[in-house]
Amino acid sequence: MNLLLYGAPGSGKGTQANMPRSHFGIPHIATGDMLRAEIAAQTDLGRQAQPILAAGKYVSDDIMIGIVRNRVIQPDCVPGFIMDGFPRTVPQAAALDDLMAALGKRFDRVIYLKVPVDDLLHRLSGRLVCPTCQRTYPPGTARCEADGSALIQREDDRAQAVRPRIEIYLEKTVPILDHYRGGGLVSEIDGRGTIEEISRHVLAAVNGRMSKTQKTA
Ligand code: ADP
Repeated sequence: MNLLLYGAPGSGKGTQANMPRSHFGIPHIATGDMLRAEIAAQTDLGRQAQPILAAGKYVSDDIMIGIVRNRVIQPDCVPGFIMDGFPRTVPQAAALDDLMAALGKRFDRVIYLKVPVDDLLHRLSGRLVCPTCQRTYPPGTARCEADGSALIQREDDRAQAVRPRIEIYLEKTVPILDHYRGGGLVSEIDGRGTIEEISRHVLAAVNGRMSKTQKTA
């Protein structure tokens, strides 16, 4: 089972990855989380990426393609994976096609979490995150419900970075939807509602695809 989670910053990709991850027992590959781990560990890549993330811009395609290439060949990816945050540009989408073909894999479904821009701006501004498990919370929350960690604000959720992130998403990332729509792979899901409601829709979209595959197999 290989799933691609697609959506704008703040659309809920990280939150919605939890359900298929536990349901199918496959890893969640989140390029933003990987970059933040590099920053926290103060690696060369982390030092290079930190100001780019803080400004809400995109890290270069070459770097991102290299990171993903190294990740998908790890043994835990053999049964499948959930890709989140990649591809974000047309060249990244083309590179991912090549990578999947080389691995003999294909995406079973592209889950598009659709949220209007006004809601995205509202959700991201002031959003808090658990530094331990990456769960997100609304402004004013003190601690993570899951592990009790004190919540922090991501540097790129500060007001000055939020609008550039949405703008770059609209310019560079929206065009890749057409790339996947052509293959009939995209399930568009309303990203507004409770986490549980949206998860039900995600699971239904994934299962719909599975039963179709089984019928034609
Ligand atoms: P969000 O989708 O909420 O913006 P992410 O955690 O997915 O957050 O990504 C955070 C940041 O990491 C992005 O704003 C960007 O700077 C960088 N990044 C992550 N994935 C990519 C990618 N595929 N290409 C370029 N930059 C990326």
